[in-house]
Amino acid sequence: MKYQNILNDKVTQCTICPRNCKLKVGQEGFCKVRKNINGDIILETYGYNTGMAIDPVEKKPLYHFYPNSNVLSFGTNGCNMGCQFCQNAHITKVPINYNNLYKVSPEEIIEYAIKYNCKSIAFTYNDPIVFFEYAIDTAKLARKYGIKTIAVTSGFINIEPAKEFFNYMDATNIDLKAFTNHFYKKNCLANIDPVLEVIKYVKNNTNCWLELTTLLIEGENSSNEEIENECNWILENLGSDTPIHFSAFTPRYKMLEHSSTKIETLMRAYNIAKNIGLKYAYTGNLRDIDTSTTYCPNCQWPMIKRDGFQIIENNLIGNKCKHCNTICDGWFE
Ligand code: SF4
Repeated sequence: MKYQNILNDKVTQCTICPRNCKLKVGQEGFCKVRKNINGDIILETYGYNTGMAIDPVEKKPLYHFYPNSNVLSFGTNGCNMGCQFCQNAHITKVPINYNNLYKVSPEEIIEYAIKYNCKSIAFTYNDPIVFFEYAIDTAKLARKYGIKTIAVTSGFINIEPAKEFFNYMDATNIDLKAFTNHFYKKNCLANIDPVLEVIKYVKNNTNCWLELTTLLIEGENSSNEEIENECNWILENLGSDTPIHFSAFTPRYKMLEHSSTKIETLMRAYNIAKNIGLKYAYTGNLRDIDTSTTYCPNCQWPMIKRDGFQIIENNLIGNKCKHCNTICDGWFE
């Protein structure tokens, strides 16, 4: 494996993500899917996935990347984050069980994408950072066939592998879990700084289309101050054209006692983002047409109206507002 340091004949360090796990021969990393086998770190889930589905791209969520197109989604096992509120713990927090996995090669994934008329392939359900090689091999092949690729990720990856990874991705939704290191440490067993560095890198140094999602958890990352800090950081470091999705938490995994996100909290975050000057703010895990609509940054006319994941009105001609000709940021047909 490329991103590793052989420390001695018994220990090899995986350098894919900032955990930099030092693994003895036979030992698995924090993610539970990378193992030191005879001094080499091996991805044990290469070519295995937990199932595939055809989703609207809006479900990723990506609202500015070929709207209304189909995406072939898949994931594997494991995760390099330790989120106490994980919404997919049944695949991320369980040991590998090959009886529950399907053997699917990158070539077969491309075949499915073509067969089911999918514009893109999404590496999702669990974080593709932990199935880096499988995702990249699939993405390389997808490019040959004109199929786009999407990474749904926490962005908790070291910068060198991130350069390679995002070079092969056409779009990404990065989960910015909160805007304090306290939250990352307490609720994700991680640190925020590497994530912010990766987000800045993707936006400013790659062609990969970027949208962000923050899952708002009452009392944990939902204060006005924290949301304002996050939105100001986005504005200053990424620009006003970066879409931000504030989505609702429902009790899961180790946060079963925690209350679901209130509608008012989502609305408050949405309004803060808009008032700070972010052009494209949205709510998620909530059925609300107004806060799921893309408004023209110039004339404020609804450019794309959505009801859930469905587009109910499209007022773009190409990528331009049909009323005032202003460009909608993103990738469109
Ligand atoms: S990818 Fe897995 S094994 Fe590698 S450093 Fe991260 S958690 Fe550890």
